[in-house]
Amino acid sequence: MSEKNFLGALRTLCEIEVARAPARHSLQTQKCLTLARFMPWSQANWTDSEREHVSGCRYCQRMMALVWREECPRLWTLVKYKYAMGTFPFDEAMRFHVDRDGCPRCSRILNSPLIDRLKNLVAQGADLAGSAVAAYGEVASAAEFASIKRPALHIRDTSEDGLLVSTLLETAEGLLVLHVESPDRKNIGRRVVAEVISESGSLLRVELELVSAGEFGCRAEHAYGRIRDLPWSRENFVFLVRWLGEAG
Ligand SMILES: [Zn+2]
Ligand SMILES: [Zn+2]
Repeated sequence: MSEKNFLGALRTLCEIEVARAPARHSLQTQKCLTLARFMPWSQANWTDSEREHVSGCRYCQRMMALVWREECPRLWTLVKYKYAMGTFPFDEAMRFHVDRDGCPRCSRILNSPLIDRLKNLVAQGADLAGSAVAAYGEVASAAEFASIKRPALHIRDTSEDGLLVSTLLETAEGLLVLHVESPDRKNIGRRVVAEVISESGSLLRVELELVSAGEFGCRAEHAYGRIRDLPWSRENFVFLVRWLGEAG
């Protein structure tokens, strides 16, 4: 969703909520963040005091849940919620999203063995802010109506810091292709590892080196072969791309 569409949809959502609520919500405080501060691209720039306020404020947690109603939390956020109970800063917002809003996508992911596999990677030191990660399959499409013809696979994620963009897609010929991009030319020559992990534990792992893409930064590409020949193609899976080694 584009920034403009996202803001428009949220504004509508908030107008509905506000129309139902008293002039000022009883939980709202002077320190509460504005709606714009909750946009995914603004959250990365929260100050420590904003972060601290949100983690302890019921009104702001509610706002966070409203934002998630438009666009679900990232996979990493779900991993952090499930395994850092008590220290996760958006506990109440997540409970609202899963229990009260009943989000089918996030409920499925939270109950999937895939989340354990991601947790293990985190335990081994995978960098949360610098990795691109997305889910595909039943977990990702649980909210949609089942269709006879499966749509072409196309999943994409941008790391929290915006420096790694990964797309896994199915071509018209039925090939599974991976594209990795970074807007920063400083990353030319750096290596990434891309993993596809299925629910049954199958792992597809490739290492790639980023080459110059001119003024667009750098990129790498890999073709896995025909998607229907891949053993896990009928399973749910997660797709994770992360840096190998530190930035130069
Ligand atoms: Zn607040
Ligand atoms: Zn959700």
